[in-house]
Amino acid sequence: MKAVKNYKFWFCTGSQDLYGDECLKNVTKHSQIIVEELNKSGVLPFEVVWKPTLITNELIRRTFNEANTEEECAGVITWMHTFSPAKSWILGLQEYRKPLLHLHTQFNEEIPYDTIDMDFMNENQAAHGDREYGHIVSRMGIERKVVMGHWSDKRVQERIASWMRTAIGVIESSHVRVMRVADNMRNVAVTEGDKVEAQLKFGWEVDTYPVNEIAEAVGAVSESDTNALVDEYYDKYEILLEGRDPAEFRRHVAVQAQIEIGFERFLEEKNYQAIVTHFGDLGALKQLPGLAIQRLEEKGYGFGAEGDWKVAAMVRIMKLMTSGMKGAKGTSMLEDYTYNLVKGKEGILQAHMLEICPSIAEGPISIKCQPLSMGDREDPARLVFTSKEGPGIATSLVDLGTRFRLIINEVDCKKVEKPMPKLPVATNFWEPKPNLYTGAEAWILAGGAHHTAFSYDLTSEQMADWADAMGIESVIIDADTTIRNFKNELRWNAASYR
Ligand code: MN
Repeated sequence: MKAVKNYKFWFCTGSQDLYGDECLKNVTKHSQIIVEELNKSGVLPFEVVWKPTLITNELIRRTFNEANTEEECAGVITWMHTFSPAKSWILGLQEYRKPLLHLHTQFNEEIPYDTIDMDFMNENQAAHGDREYGHIVSRMGIERKVVMGHWSDKRVQERIASWMRTAIGVIESSHVRVMRVADNMRNVAVTEGDKVEAQLKFGWEVDTYPVNEIAEAVGAVSESDTNALVDEYYDKYEILLEGRDPAEFRRHVAVQAQIEIGFERFLEEKNYQAIVTHFGDLGALKQLPGLAIQRLEEKGYGFGAEGDWKVAAMVRIMKLMTSGMKGAKGTSMLEDYTYNLVKGKEGILQAHMLEICPSIAEGPISIKCQPLSMGDREDPARLVFTSKEGPGIATSLVDLGTRFRLIINEVDCKKVEKPMPKLPVATNFWEPKPNLYTGAEAWILAGGAHHTAFSYDLTSEQMADWADAMGIESVIIDADTTIRNFKNELRWNAASYR
């Protein structure tokens, strides 16, 4: 699985020639220092590339068009060092198609009280120039992020870093291809959706293959390749026989190893980065893909269960957004299963039948082989674990018939009080913000699904910015949510997004 490209972000400084060459030389010098220091900070996940100061319509237009065509450019950061007449930016902005950050900063941190004169004022007037530029971007209705503060401030750098990851989600969205090897589960509403509209809005390709085509690819995997992977599993994971015959257990695990290799080869060959399955539509597959899907998710593939292609695509995008992140805690598909309603201990037990990504695991990961109690296949082998503690976000992209809505809930992941020795699946347990009652009520009012794309490593701000860039509605359920305000927000959004 390929990680993201070697993306770069262009740093474009706006100015004008009203104050002479000396001033323009300083503008160049200042912007070069800022770019150098941002790159040296170690905070940004991607390199910033300095571009010559933009002072004419022609150069602005050319630069934005170059940014469009340069494959490794994932976005442009703009800053108006001095005044830059904003009409000069219209053509360039009209033609620009990638993520845009407006860094509202200035070179000096403090007003130089003892020496400040009009030359200094004319040269350092972002407070003035950035407003002129911001006006035209707003008037043109162009989606962009605005970050304000001194460029050396760690908080500012962290916000740029955070936006860069959103930009990767925007740029990469149009490369996401989801393979459906089963249709949606019969009669289920929330996993449905308009695939043409999804391609228009997000750029996703969502295609169907007969399940037996992928089953054939699984059947073609050699015994030696399969056994080598089973050996790897037995080295890496704890084996919980729970009374089963060791040889029989190993045969069940081998079915998953063969599926992992066969699926991965099939996905690679046909260039898909996300997949959905359905326990009721398995063709010649001997088991519901469990351990196999868990391992593929860990490698970066998106996954959705019961044909849920929206979740598969979102998991893929969120994995790309966190790609290469130091200390990442994980991203997975999850499902709301059952509540703990004991006062002071409220929360939702998250799980799925099998397919939770081990990137979110904490502590030992075991292999269990248990009946599925659904469908008509062999008992599938699966990885079982519990998950990390700490904050995360659960997201649900729903199709409301005429448009998409992204629901984002900030959650606190916790350890469950006691082990659950009889539960044969991986779990997470979280308390939604602002609390279980308001969080769940708001989620249901917004039409959120039981399947979610979850991450410890992204913020609600990043996902809401991503939704804005995609031109869809998003709602955040967080510590500030009240039902009265939330219902009003949904009403207002219904008028705003048509
Ligand atoms: Mn499900």
